Amino acid sequence: MKVLVIGAGVVGTAAAWYLTKAGHEVTVLDRREGPGLETSFANGGQISACHAEPWANPAVLPRILRWLGREDAPLKFRFNRWDPALWAWSLRFLANCTGGRAAVNTERALRVALYSRRCLQQLRAETGIAYDHRTRGILHVYRDPREFGHARKAAELMRRHGLPRFDKTAAECAAIEPALEAVAEHLAGGIFTPEDESGDAYAFTAALVRLATARGAVFRTGIKVIGFETNRDRVTAVLTEGGRLRPDGIVLAAGVWSPLLARSAGLRLPVVPAKGYSVTIPVAGHGGAPTVSITDDEHKIVCSRLGERLRVAGTAEMAGYDSSLNQLRWRLILDQARALFPDGGDFERAEPWAGLRPVTPDSVPLLGATPFRNLWLDTGHGTLGWTMACGSGRVIADLVSGRKPEIALEGLELGRFC
Ligand SMILES: Cc1cc2nc3c(=O)[nH]c(=O)nc-3n(C[C@H](O)[C@H](O)[C@H](O)COP(=O)(O)OP(=O)(O)OC[C@H]3O[C@@H](n4cnc5c(N)ncnc54)[C@H](O)[C@@H]3O)c2cc1C
Repeated sequence: MKVLVIGAGVVGTAAAWYLTKAGHEVTVLDRREGPGLETSFANGGQISACHAEPWANPAVLPRILRWLGREDAPLKFRFNRWDPALWAWSLRFLANCTGGRAAVNTERALRVALYSRRCLQQLRAETGIAYDHRTRGILHVYRDPREFGHARKAAELMRRHGLPRFDKTAAECAAIEPALEAVAEHLAGGIFTPEDESGDAYAFTAALVRLATARGAVFRTGIKVIGFETNRDRVTAVLTEGGRLRPDGIVLAAGVWSPLLARSAGLRLPVVPAKGYSVTIPVAGHGGAPTVSITDDEHKIVCSRLGERLRVAGTAEMAGYDSSLNQLRWRLILDQARALFPDGGDFERAEPWAGLRPVTPDSVPLLGATPFRNLWLDTGHGTLGWTMACGSGRVIADLVSGRKPEIALEGLELGRFC
């Protein structure tokens, strides 16, 4: 089958890989000058399958209220302009903040994330793909004993579901990651998920493009898709700035821009941008950079060692499609990283970046079928697009090929919002 993938981020590229492996004739279009240059470019680097909890949960509301009006809030809503999509999304987000909904959404996100980590590991074993990856787990650290208490309860619940998530004392945290020694006395403890991983999503995307190309996939960059033409239950043409294309199947993997394209086919995707920042710090000559991926849960920042760089990422700002760099917010991340790892790198040479996470109100991606028989969705991966890319791509390749995916699709498709 001739399959067109729209979007060459980590999600679209992973789909292209699995589709090519399944024997399809695959073309990937991206409007940027190369693959992986948008949200997949400089993210936090974590493959955090064991931490796939949704944003929407009963504990988040009091926090959002506490953070209101604070420019340095880890999660900030900017409702100061008329944005119907954001208002509609926010109402759905609120509806997902009950304990019951959070439990359902956790199971759905975990289903994709754990499967995806297995797919990534298989892909790595099969191809030898290298992307500054580390398989030393993820350690969440806490200063506030109360927050640590909540995290321990959540970890216990997850262990009952078979997820390896272990409580650690401050001393044990420093033993797992000696770079934490300088701050260990201020830590209440940590939660360790030894099976989680980290790595450079951009390096992975670029390497996978090369592997997929060697197997016959075609990546065409610098081409913008404008919309779709439809007839009843089929997309009959994909309109691009370079002309009209008529593939047999289409996979929409355009990250935060997916809803803008879907609209031309009459589909409403509840996906909005949540801006985040990262700083990338050179570590050469500094002995205090971590090699285990760390999450500072209080400040909501993640730190991943990517070769000779330390990537630190965090904050979420619901502010539409504006991806400009707000000095205050990225400098805050830099200061928090410096406080955690005083000798972690050359902080003066840090490179700031901002990207837009494609978030759904329930933190579960939009995967699978649409009302159009030849259009599939692979989008809305939010904070976990790197974690979920391979599994999502594999699911899409199975669906396009008419095979039953290896994980259940219940609760992952667009139909849950209709
Ligand atoms: C600060 C930050 C930290 C993060 N940390 C992590 C982490 O630690 N772990 C994790 O799992 N996830 C993390 N994420 C989330 C993750 O980066 C995203 O979920 C993921 O990159 C989304 O990938 P994507 O391929 O869907 O989107 P993108 O990478 O944005 O790709 C979409 C592509 O579609 C193209 N496109 C859009 N419109 C069109 C059009 N009209 N025509 C043609 N092409 C088009 C774009 O050019 C782009 O290349 C983080 C995100 C941010 C912002």
